[in-house]
Amino acid sequence: MSNSTAKNPIIILPDVLVDQIAAGEVIQRPASVVKELLENSIDAGANRIEVVIKNAGKDLIRIVDNGIGMSSEALSLATQRHATSKIRELKDLERLNSYGFRGEALASIAAVSQLEIASIPAQENQGERRIWSGGKLETVEAFGGKSGTDIAVKNLFFNTPARRKFLKGKPTETRHITEQVVRVALSNPELRLKYSNDKKTILDLPSGDLKARIGAIFQKNYSQYLQEVNNKYQAMSLDGYVGNLNLVRKSKGEQYLFLNGRYIQNRLMNSAVFSVFRGLVKRSEYPFFVLNLQIDPAEVDVNVHPTKIEVKFADEWRVYNFIKMFVAEALRDIIQTAPSFSPPVALQDSPKNAQFTISSHRSGKNPRLPEETQRLMFDSNYQSQKETDYLQKAQNFPEYFLEAQSDAPFECGNIWQIHNKYICAEIRNGIVIIDQHVAHERVLYEKAMQSFSETEVPAQQLLFPVVIEFSPEDYSILLDVLPFMKKIGFQMRNFGGRSVVLEGVPGEMRSGEEGKIIKQIIDYTKEYAMQNDPVQEKVAAAYACKGAVKAGDPLTKEELQALVDQLFATEEPYFCPHGRPIVVNYSLDEIDKRFERT
Ligand code: ADP
Ligand code: MG
Repeated sequence: MSNSTAKNPIIILPDVLVDQIAAGEVIQRPASVVKELLENSIDAGANRIEVVIKNAGKDLIRIVDNGIGMSSEALSLATQRHATSKIRELKDLERLNSYGFRGEALASIAAVSQLEIASIPAQENQGERRIWSGGKLETVEAFGGKSGTDIAVKNLFFNTPARRKFLKGKPTETRHITEQVVRVALSNPELRLKYSNDKKTILDLPSGDLKARIGAIFQKNYSQYLQEVNNKYQAMSLDGYVGNLNLVRKSKGEQYLFLNGRYIQNRLMNSAVFSVFRGLVKRSEYPFFVLNLQIDPAEVDVNVHPTKIEVKFADEWRVYNFIKMFVAEALRDIIQTAPSFSPPVALQDSPKNAQFTISSHRSGKNPRLPEETQRLMFDSNYQSQKETDYLQKAQNFPEYFLEAQSDAPFECGNIWQIHNKYICAEIRNGIVIIDQHVAHERVLYEKAMQSFSETEVPAQQLLFPVVIEFSPEDYSILLDVLPFMKKIGFQMRNFGGRSVVLEGVPGEMRSGEEGKIIKQIIDYTKEYAMQNDPVQEKVAAAYACKGAVKAGDPLTKEELQALVDQLFATEEPYFCPHGRPIVVNYSLDEIDKRFERT
């Protein structure tokens, strides 16, 4: 052991290697390169961009723009790490109006490819071409033509073979690239954009408005089925289009939400739109939308994720209510003609007196809260100690403060069970109430769906195995659903004839009803046999419904904590598969108003 230290003394890694390692964060696949280069071109003020791809971007990604270009000096700096023309100081992050600011993309791309940049500054006709290989500058030469920038990225990951090997097949990588181009095209409808792959033109988009662009990207008839959204409230505005019921699809994928022009993924905000469709569409049907949300850049942190696809809102629920209300308003006609629909709560308030001050809530993709955060959330003694440390440090080191804030997004204090039915939790600016049954149902449903694609099956052995006998019809249904039940964690053996012995059940299940649950799953499967959902979805839904804690079940503090934690780790924590809400929130302002405390 001690030898190895001697043999491998500590060294500072060479810059090229540092860049190669860091490249993994920003550049995961050809589509990441396309995203970064397109954003740079737009930041450079281009209004014409051409994207040329060969072999799904593995051989060539070339992007030509008519933006402001780079001087020879700028070009010599551009591929260095943390070289950016877009911010100068920390405050600039709060009023960011460019896509880029980290100054990492070109450095990362240069480190893992053969990169050629030819650029001519605006109003000039002479510029420079530079060629790098694996981050090493190889060629500098004069270059003449029209102003703009022409970047070619060849043989991506040629010097990091492990990464290159991990790339998916051509169709998948091409799909990812197309998705990136589409996002940029939708957020910049005035941009003239051409995109070809292996000499085949995939998109050739003239400059136009958003409606025309949606038609040009998806299908012509999409334009007919759009409802316009265009609303403003204080410093927030929302504009774009939501598809009507003709554009509802069975799978997610056609939802485009842009925050200040940047494509983002945010479950809560998407669910704000979905919630308006509740009662209009079947479960697992999703509406089409392209929406651009503008809010004060100081109200969001876009620097929580290297590719900036996830952002953190200072006040998520406020934004949620805002989106929900304005989408509902845009869809008012559709909603009113649908019989089963009740208007969302937010609609009942007019924007004037609506309370937009419900606190931020946990989001983000980190599925398990670290133990530290959990204690911070639920253990009040621990919290106060922790808080003191935190504030003390914050005073001394402003940077620490910023960092710690973004690490603890879920500021939830006390937690209680009420009427053995709901979970009530205190959050920063109010309270949330969670329906314990639907919350657990959501958790079990997603676990079950996931387990179908996994090999390891977690099960708890029953102390007293149960023998169950079935009718001929039920037995034949059992045989259909058995493979899926096994995946979820039910362990069964044939016990002669039409009876089975149940020896183990999923670890997650509430015990006590092991014998009944199988029959219930069969009943449920029969009951919903008419729907076209795949069998595994029915099994998952039945198991989730029957295996979840019920209204009336008392839960310990630990169980409450675990449930809240697991709920917010699911894909869709806010609505159950049937579209009912799982979480409702009340802002302190709302509560104060009830007490006429204003
Ligand atoms: P960032 O975009 O975060 O600033 P990048 O590594 O993507 O970092 O780019 C570094 C710098 O190179 C940019 O700040 C910009 O000044 C310059 N640059 C990159 N691409 C272009 C382009 N297409 N046209 C003009 N300048 C560019
Ligand atoms: Mg950039």
